[in-house]
Amino acid sequence: MSQMVQPVTDVYGFPFHDGTLLASAWSGLSCLWTDAFTSTLPWQESGTYLGALKCVRESCPEGRLLPINPLKISSLWRCDRCNLKMDNIKASKIQEIAGRMILNNAIKREASYIIDYLNDHIVKFLLPTNQFTVELKLQAIKKIQSDRPLAELREKEKYCIEILD
Ligand SMILES: [Zn+2]
Repeated sequence: MSQMVQPVTDVYGFPFHDGTLLASAWSGLSCLWTDAFTSTLPWQESGTYLGALKCVRESCPEGRLLPINPLKISSLWRCDRCNLKMDNIKASKIQEIAGRMILNNAIKREASYIIDYLNDHIVKFLLPTNQFTVELKLQAIKKIQSDRPLAELREKEKYCIEILD
């Protein structure tokens, strides 16, 4: 898997793992993905739910939306708690918007901005296990040095624990 994501990581400095996102949402980047990801879609293989989305039902805060058939790009997505179904286009759209916001904006900002962003926005639609959430936390961890205020250091500690969990 690391071999497949390598070229993209080189270009964007960001490790993508989600096949749906790659295959259908990032049309501008599709030339890079196609070959690498059509044969194997690795999003669920390690059980880390890198591509999972938060269930959109308010009554289902713990639910995770995942593709029913991870090998099919057009697969329906389903919540693992309440069975809510979402079509692939909508799921891809959410991934696309999340990815764009994070890549174009949040990831380049100060640690304090990233912390607020994670707490105020990301928690509403991405899971703590989502690749974008994890990447933002990693960026925050990198940027929060020991001379930062205690509140930031606490966040850093929290992110470290969450990622290692
Ligand atoms: Zn649900």
